[in-house]
This record gives sequence, structure tokens and C-alpha cells, in this order.
Amino acid sequence: MSLEVLDIHVYYGDSYILQGVSLEVYEKEIVCLLGRNGAGKTTTMRSIMGFAPPKRGEIRFQGRVVSGRPVHEIVRSGIGYVPEDRRIFPALTVEENLEVAMLPPRPGKKPWTPERVFEEFPLLARLRKKRGGELSGGEQQLLAIARALMGNPLFLLLDEPCEGLAPVVVEFLGEVISGLKGDMAILLAEQNARFAFSVADRGYVMEKGRVQCHGPVDQLQADKDIHQRCLAV
Ligand code: ATP
Repeated sequence: MSLEVLDIHVYYGDSYILQGVSLEVYEKEIVCLLGRNGAGKTTTMRSIMGFAPPKRGEIRFQGRVVSGRPVHEIVRSGIGYVPEDRRIFPALTVEENLEVAMLPPRPGKKPWTPERVFEEFPLLARLRKKRGGELSGGEQQLLAIARALMGNPLFLLLDEPCEGLAPVVVEFLGEVISGLKGDMAILLAEQNARFAFSVADRGYVMEKGRVQCHGPVDQLQADKDIHQRCLAV
């Protein structure tokens, strides 16, 4: 087991946002977190990262409790995060954006370095001297993913990577994400169910701060009721 979220309850001030969320992600599995705007996907990811610690419940990564630990420790334990707004540094070049995020390699795993990123993503190699702020939305998203890889994660959280991107770019990012399978486990938050089903093995559907159902993607895809209640936009 890679990640276990066990009955977490999260508040923003007085607002009771996550009302007992549980989910699990196995090693090298891609799991999607589906649900409409405001369902609680981002809050779940922020809670896993330590930005919004649960008031009740527990989060375990590789068998060790990480809930309650500071963000930097959670990152060092091997969880990488690509937030919805990407947060790349606009004034730094592509290469510099990667360099500032470098963390030590993990024993037994091929390390991520800027050179490896440029080999695996030739698009970024061509852009290496460009500033982050000059990139298109799709290029920025790829850079945000590559930057998270520089931390040599064992687990990656991707928050709506395809939001606002053209279909051809979404297709490209799907290939990038699928290509990471085998190297790490991934939790992918998405409103775009079709995209999520094309890359994930299993999924959890959230509504109003709770998990409404979960299962293999083909099972979720076939459930028309879920589509209407939780996924239709
Ligand atoms: P989105 O697609 O918009 O990211 P989401 O499923 O990720 O949706 P969350 O962003 O987790 O949903 O939001 C869950 C709920 O928490 C929403 O009702 C939202 O209004 C509320 N919320 C989010 N951030 C805060 C905050 N900083 N303070 C108070 N309430 C918040």
C-alpha cells in the first residue's frame, strides 16, 4: 500500500469541508478523484500534503503516519504535488524552475535530474532557456509536473492538470501521466471524467465532502446514476 487516507475530517475555520473521507492508493497505481466543482478534491489533496491537516482521522504513507507532520517533511517522505494553479516561477527559466526543486535521489530508483526531464520530455528541452511566464498553459502544466518529479517522488498528486487546456494538449498530458505509471503511484483529481477514465485504474467519486462511491474505472464509467449526480457538468 502506498497511501491510506482514513476517515479524515477537515475544516476551514468553522466550515466543515471533508466529512469523513477514506481512500487508498496501491503502489504504482493511478487513482482518480472525481467530482464537481467544490466537491472536496482539492481539499483532500491539500490535506494529504499537510496544508489542511485533518482534525480527525489519519493519513498514512508507506505505512507511516504523515498527518500532523509539516509540509516539507511530507514532501521529503516522497509525496509530490502539482497544484491546480501550477505555481511555476514566471521569472525563472524552465531549467531554473527545475533546478530549484531538486531533492536528493532515492535509493534504488533512477534519479530525476534536469537532463532526464529533457530526455523524457523533448518539448521542455526546446524551451529550457524560456521563462516560465512565457510558456503556454500546456507547457506550464508539463513544467509543473516535471518540477514535481525533481523531488524524486514515490507518489504524485495531480490537481486538475487538464483544466483550461485544448483537447490535443489534454491528450498529450494523458500520455505523459500514463508514462509515469510504473515509476510511482498517482492520485489525479479531475472534473473531466472522460480524461480521468482514460488514464486511471480506479476512481473515487466525491460529493459534498464525502466519497459517494469507488471502484475500477470501467465500473464507474458504466454507472449512469453516478454520472448524473456527481459528474455531469
Ligand atoms: P474545484 O474543482 O473547485 O477545485 P474541489 O472539488 O477541489 O473543487 P475544494 O476546492 O476542495 O473542491 O472545495 C471544497 C469546499 O470547500 C467548497 O465548498 C469550497 O467553497 C470550500 N473551500 C475551499 N477552500 C476554502 C477556504 N480557503 N476557506 C473556506 N472554504 C473553502
